[in-house]
Amino acid sequence: MTRGVAVFGATGSIGCSTLAVLAAHPDQFRLEVISAHDNMDRLLDILKTHQPKHVVLTNPEHWETAKTHRHRFPQVIFHAGMSCLNELAQSPDVDIVVAGIVGAAGLRSTMAAVTAGKQVLLANKEALVMAGSFVMREAQRTGARILPLDSEHNAIFQCLPKGYQTGESIQGLEQLILTCSGGPFRTLDASALKTVTPAMACQHPNWSMGAKISIDSATLMNKGLELIEACHLFAVQPAQVDVVVHPQSIIHSMVAFCDGSILAQLGAADMRIPIAYSLGYPTRLAIDVPRLNWRDLRELQFEIPRHADFPAIEMARAAYESGADRPLVLNAANEMAVAAFLNGAIGFQQIMTIVAECLNRLPRQPISVVEDMILRDADVRALAKSLVEASICS
Ligand code: NAD
Ligand code: MG
Repeated sequence: MTRGVAVFGATGSIGCSTLAVLAAHPDQFRLEVISAHDNMDRLLDILKTHQPKHVVLTNPEHWETAKTHRHRFPQVIFHAGMSCLNELAQSPDVDIVVAGIVGAAGLRSTMAAVTAGKQVLLANKEALVMAGSFVMREAQRTGARILPLDSEHNAIFQCLPKGYQTGESIQGLEQLILTCSGGPFRTLDASALKTVTPAMACQHPNWSMGAKISIDSATLMNKGLELIEACHLFAVQPAQVDVVVHPQSIIHSMVAFCDGSILAQLGAADMRIPIAYSLGYPTRLAIDVPRLNWRDLRELQFEIPRHADFPAIEMARAAYESGADRPLVLNAANEMAVAAFLNGAIGFQQIMTIVAECLNRLPRQPISVVEDMILRDADVRALAKSLVEASICS
């Protein structure tokens, strides 16, 4: 019996790695749904080698282009608009949803999969940062199983006792230890951070990823978002989550227990490993990825993050502790600031200035329903946009 898979954000880095794992195991999985937003060339390439039943263009502007190519793929049903994706997330033919859309744009489709009680392989960490309590509560209500794809959270999940479900508290836990590569500017002088370019920031030392998460890795906001993600997935408080810089990205994270034992998951820096683990769960799938050879391992370094130069982790920690809309504000401001940096509108260090300014200027507000979250997200984006424009003019 094969299981039906939907890959949201199929044209992205997570999406492509997922398609590669699925293609290696056609006896176990059927590709039911894929979504694409802007990269039509990549979509057409995918359709040459994979046979999804449904394709959703979440950006309907590409509908005309799709129409001109549709005849080449007669077995595929094309749809346009995000609402189609939310509907297909609930299809009885879909057993597993890979939430691989980047940013707040992925919230509704991730929620639709959770509400439908699917097995949700979560890469879209921003959805958890914005609405983590809501997502986890909904998963508990519907029985949706959330499996983390983020390499750190996947590593932690692999270190937990058999049968552990995300959202439950962990018996005997002392601390979660998130590892962090330190990003491309780990050793750069603080004064040199002023002039770094998007191209430099996108050059991650160990991982190849989409543009937004690459910039987040350079500011260390990625680790801040992951700290919040860990709190929701593993029912812990920020005080129970430590972050250690580990430049080799070989240990993907660790769990320290009350008896002094520390468990870790090690492997090559290749997202197909956590993806395969979650797709096959609880059975392991064989995949052809680089193996870690301990004979070649020379050193595993550990450092304390440079919080003074990279304040994002502590900002995220404070946002989570403060609660209400703070993590949502942090996330939306960061998405806008990262986009502005990628467009060349602001400098690298202004990303954090804009996030801090949005947190300062917008009063803390409780939010409990998705509609309020979407409205608040829009408010933050409007403020962040005006701050970017003001900084360009000054
Ligand atoms: P990416 O930029 O490579 O791909 C993003 C995908 O989202 C694309 O398919 C794109 O079409 C789609 N998308 C973009 N904007 C959209 C919108 N407004 N509406 C609908 N779809 C939209 O990003 P990625 O690196 O694959 O990251 C995806 C998610 O996975 C992010 O949340 C990221 O933090 C997380 N993640 C990625 C990695 C990695 O190795 N790439 C590792 C851990 C977690
Ligand atoms: Mg990660």
